[in-house]
Amino acid sequence: MNKTTIYLDNNASAALRPEAREAMIAALDICGNASSVHRAGRSARNVIEKARRQVAELVNGAPGDVVFTSGGTEAINTVIAGAAAKGIKHILASEIEHAALLAAARNSGIELHMLRVDGGGRVLPDILQQKLDAIAPSPASPVLVAVMLANNESGVIQPIAELARITHAHGGVFLCDAVQAAGKIAVDMKLLGADYLALSAHKLGGPQGAGALVTGCGADITPLIRGGGQERSRRAGTENLTGIAGFGAAAGAASTGLLDMPRMKKMRDALEKQLKALDGGIIVLGENAPRLGNTSFFAIPGIKAETLVIALDLENIAISAGSACSSGKSAGSHVPLAMGYDADIAQATIRVSFGWQNVMDDVSAFMHAFQTVLKRMRNNK
Ligand code: PLP
Repeated sequence: MNKTTIYLDNNASAALRPEAREAMIAALDICGNASSVHRAGRSARNVIEKARRQVAELVNGAPGDVVFTSGGTEAINTVIAGAAAKGIKHILASEIEHAALLAAARNSGIELHMLRVDGGGRVLPDILQQKLDAIAPSPASPVLVAVMLANNESGVIQPIAELARITHAHGGVFLCDAVQAAGKIAVDMKLLGADYLALSAHKLGGPQGAGALVTGCGADITPLIRGGGQERSRRAGTENLTGIAGFGAAAGAASTGLLDMPRMKKMRDALEKQLKALDGGIIVLGENAPRLGNTSFFAIPGIKAETLVIALDLENIAISAGSACSSGKSAGSHVPLAMGYDADIAQATIRVSFGWQNVMDDVSAFMHAFQTVLKRMRNNK
């Protein structure tokens, strides 16, 4: 990252934690395949198993239930492809799920039903209940319900334990995309009651290209990638040793990240206060819902988010328009639309997301650049 850039796009990819960098550099020096029985192989195996314990601890899961993947997208695709292979007939997914889930579900051949969210961006348990009653799942026609723990754009947190309970009462299985939540709020596999949890290393200070699928409630995994017997035959392919080492170390350090969240929330709240003072018309999406303390998702009506992002980049401020992972969408993000906002607001929403490396001065730097850019954009109209 350019040293002079104020990086405020940590939900797209968090800054690498020093602990993760250190573990990855050490892992690069291990010449051995974790499947080999010799000492070099055992060294690699030890690194992977340590990381597995660290990731399990982060979500209060069992190490044996952690399967390393190439990231959140692969973890989600594994569950959906597995559901199709098992003959699951219906997927119920919230309208605000990440493209990783929506695209996988749409291409799975399984009938997809959308779960509406309210104006605050939350799935209401009653809506799930009604949909399940209408579908009337049975052992012959089972369901997979998929709802994320925290939304990547708004940061809004979903009532997963309640949704999972309703799903199980209907004989269904529950997939929770915890990619954005892990490391930002406490994630407890047992309290959530999810059958599957998807995680990604680069959202919590680890490297890109590593993630995990964690199972709970005795759920099993149908492998998406077949080949050798790695990951106890649940995900084939020689393990990404360096990535997994970094993931484990970042997961270990993420407990400190949780303690740091009030500091990030202070920065986020200061930012929103100053934005409101600057422009009374500003809309903070999901403001009154429970949401991640590091995330602000807001719109200034009439100001195009994409133009703002580019203009701020020229001022060395990195933020994103809606979801960075689905950038290029000129129609705007699906998340504000699902929350009931119109296309103009959807095209105006931007996301500022803080990380462990940010300090209060970054808020001042952002506000200074934002004011300059906004003035310029308004004068050019
Ligand atoms: N789910 C959510 C909520 C995300 O924010 C992302 C990444 O942006 C993903 C899934 C995909 O994770 P990965 O980048 O590890 O494939």
